[in-house]
Amino acid sequence: MAKVNPDFVKDIRKYGADDFSACFSCGTCTAICSLTDKDNSFPRKMIRYTMLGLESEIKTSVDPWMCYYCGDCSTNCPRQADPGNLMMAVRRYLISKYDWTGLSGLLYRNLAGYIIAFLIVIVGVIGVSVKGGFDHSEWLHYGHYFEMYSIAGIFAFILFPNIIRMWYYIVWSKTKKFNIRNHFVALGELFVHMFTQKRSLECDKTKNDTLWWFEHFILVIGYLALLFTTVFLDWFATKSTVINAMGYVFSAIIFVVTFDFVIRRLRKRSEKTSFSHPSDWFFVIWLFLMGISAFAVRLLIDLGTLENNFWVFLFHLVVLAQWALIIVPFGKWTHFLYRSFAMYFAAIINKPDAEPAVKK
Ligand code: SF4
Ligand code: SF4
Repeated sequence: MAKVNPDFVKDIRKYGADDFSACFSCGTCTAICSLTDKDNSFPRKMIRYTMLGLESEIKTSVDPWMCYYCGDCSTNCPRQADPGNLMMAVRRYLISKYDWTGLSGLLYRNLAGYIIAFLIVIVGVIGVSVKGGFDHSEWLHYGHYFEMYSIAGIFAFILFPNIIRMWYYIVWSKTKKFNIRNHFVALGELFVHMFTQKRSLECDKTKNDTLWWFEHFILVIGYLALLFTTVFLDWFATKSTVINAMGYVFSAIIFVVTFDFVIRRLRKRSEKTSFSHPSDWFFVIWLFLMGISAFAVRLLIDLGTLENNFWVFLFHLVVLAQWALIIVPFGKWTHFLYRSFAMYFAAIINKPDAEPAVKK
């Protein structure tokens, strides 16, 4: 029997949901959504589950990840219940449930938590720089090692266990079996969705705004390529003209695209950008700052003036540390990871030989 949480309506509001209680269950939102299908029916079902407090049904559902927040349902809702926004809030709630540390939920629910975490990182980096007394080449060296070890540590100790938890909720709790063949056959879905967000192209709104899709696509490619260039090709220390040029191009892609995202959010011209949770702002602004500060640091190295402008590198290091220690493991960045895995898990549980119970 499904477990009911009578406080769930109150809880989900803390994740950014607001007007959903006006819903009178007409079904227009589900009818209008071009991404809903026989296997994944939303957003009305999610609103009903939320109103009824069916927390365990929501926790084990993959449906919230099938929504790309185009806003069509919210625009057409006769009660202004903003179902698109509820789907977004449910995704934040799900992330807090996947995260074994509990920090994602804490930060999503409290802006003050984010600010305190950012301040702790600033004090940490400045403190080390004041006490350290390293010369600038040593700082570049330690910055590179920080990037490598923080990525490895966060994946090993936070994101990987969280994905296992997500798998447990979505796959195991429904199928009660580990079908290796299905897991292997569906693997392609993971990488296709991770790099292309292919499913969003099935959305009518996205079809009319392919620039948005393209910007996301090159942002993912640019971000992963810059990560590879800085971590594995040691961009700030390289003597290779090709690697150096690659770093400039990838960092420029990041700050140009994220600048456009910030402008879109400020203008609020579409339903998708009409409401921005603090975590949305942190994601786009910090990614912008990462791209532009990395570009500036490498430019100063090439001009031979980094030593006289060392604050630029320290600024980059602060932004990098806040990004790596706060936004990647506990913030909006995780949407990229969990959505890709959700597509993968959905492909597994929707295989014909999965347990009949998983069929909706
Ligand atoms: S959210 Fe709006 S469109 Fe969807 S079922 Fe409720 S009232 Fe109807
Ligand atoms: S925001 Fe778009 S994709 Fe999400 S449920 Fe509404 S119509 Fe569907």
